[in-house]
Amino acid sequence: MRAVAVFPHAHEVKLIDVEEPQIARPTEVKLRMLDVGICGTDREISSFQYGTPPDGSDYLILGHESLGEVVEIGPAVQGISVGDLAVIMVRRPCPHAECHACRAGRSDFCVTGDFTERGIKGLHGFLAEYVVDDAQYLHVVPAALRKVGVLTEPLTIAEKALSQALHIERRMPWLAEITPQSPERSELTAAILGAGAIGLLGAMALRAMDIETYVYDRVPPPNSKSQLVETIGARYISPENPSTSFTDLIGHVHFIYEATGVSQLAFQAIMALSPNSILVLTGVPGLGAHKELDTDTLMRNMVLKNQVILGTVNAGSVDHVSAIRHIKTFMERWPEVFDTIISGRYPLDAYRDLLLGQSSGIKNVLSFEPK
Ligand SMILES: [Zn+2]
Ligand SMILES: [Zn+2]
Repeated sequence: MRAVAVFPHAHEVKLIDVEEPQIARPTEVKLRMLDVGICGTDREISSFQYGTPPDGSDYLILGHESLGEVVEIGPAVQGISVGDLAVIMVRRPCPHAECHACRAGRSDFCVTGDFTERGIKGLHGFLAEYVVDDAQYLHVVPAALRKVGVLTEPLTIAEKALSQALHIERRMPWLAEITPQSPERSELTAAILGAGAIGLLGAMALRAMDIETYVYDRVPPPNSKSQLVETIGARYISPENPSTSFTDLIGHVHFIYEATGVSQLAFQAIMALSPNSILVLTGVPGLGAHKELDTDTLMRNMVLKNQVILGTVNAGSVDHVSAIRHIKTFMERWPEVFDTIISGRYPLDAYRDLLLGQSSGIKNVLSFEPK
């Protein structure tokens, strides 16, 4: 079968022909891949910044944002049938008995760092015609989401960030019962930093909860992202000159969701947090850019206003369930936005442009069945 792989030592990214994987254990499922989303992680692996092949292999098959169709199931698999659409989770637990996170099924909170990740660290990814995995890592996607189910994995990052933020809101007795549906939620305001795929999907999740939402991006409106933001009933904010502060632009908010990986922007944004509020960081900056920060003011503000800075990575099974439910809601409320978010759908042969060419569009997808 065909697969796209990175060879870190030889510094090559190429289409390879490998043996089709087969079901080896009764709990495994075989999928024919339909769509694989490409993101900054794939591009960084393709420029050899990180990415680890499985033990004994000199290459790593790329791809972690999946949508596949089940073609075969092991005899012990329940709740999944041939013909179902499914997304496959990325991270697998570490082997250590003392890692409570992995033993509790939450490898996204792994404390040892010895987890593996399909398409990123120690396990082959999903940019291959067929993939086999254990049923416990699959989430069935309704057939109606065939064209958009590939957005599940990037949305899970936002889902985890939002559910963590709601957990923290519950520390306040008058918000102890807050849920994505309870009336208290509509008193919250949120700001998203960065109108990339994860930022926009996060904004859609917030709007699906009827939370007042601002999306901050440096590209001035009008553009396709600002139009999308308006369609979902959020406000697009862009500074006319770079020295404009967030509080000038948006006032104060309860929740800032950072999806840029720009550390200075993230820490400046703290000034826009109201008392008792939360900054959630999801971007991963490259190392080395040393910027000055007024740490006294930052710390003073955080202490005097009971504020929280939270980092979050990857996502749990529960976040996949809410992502799939939310994508269904998005389809019902704003079906037109998916043509903006999925900015391009390409045949597998276009892998080189998407992985190594200039980055463009919001979410580009490699399809094994181009339309
Ligand atoms: Zn990704
Ligand atoms: Zn672990």
